[in-house]
Amino acid sequence: MRCPFCSAEDTKVIDSRLVAEGDQIRRRRECLTCAERFTTYESAELLMPRIIKQDGIREPFNEEKLRAGMLRALEKRPVSVEQVEASIGHIKHTLQAMGEREVKSRVVGELVMDHLQRLDHVAFVRFASVYRDFKTLDEFRTEIDRLAAESTGAEKP
Ligand SMILES: [Zn+2]
Repeated sequence: MRCPFCSAEDTKVIDSRLVAEGDQIRRRRECLTCAERFTTYESAELLMPRIIKQDGIREPFNEEKLRAGMLRALEKRPVSVEQVEASIGHIKHTLQAMGEREVKSRVVGELVMDHLQRLDHVAFVRFASVYRDFKTLDEFRTEIDRLAAESTGAEKP
């Protein structure tokens, strides 16, 4: 860390403490050349990646858009607001944990489908039919059959 007073490269940390409820580290530093003291703040950078759309256009991650898409699929379904918010929290966390600066919109869509599948099968099919853009009724039926097979499998002791 370069000294902001004389630009010397050697500075030493004389004090470190957690601030902002533990989300930041405040460090007091002293320049070994001019002996001036200064403070730095350090925090983890957890940015949402930018989203690469199908056409290659990049746009900022939009939580409202994500929520709107999920709620549309969940309309009149027995899923609580808390469950939806928990899913959104998980999806955001997963995207942050990837540590990528850009992520394909497809990845976000797959994460949403993952969560909807666990929350409500009807909502999942609604979302998937729009998202995966089933081209034929057969494709749609195949998905429904796959889900039906999965849920019967799950009910067996
Ligand atoms: Zn200095």
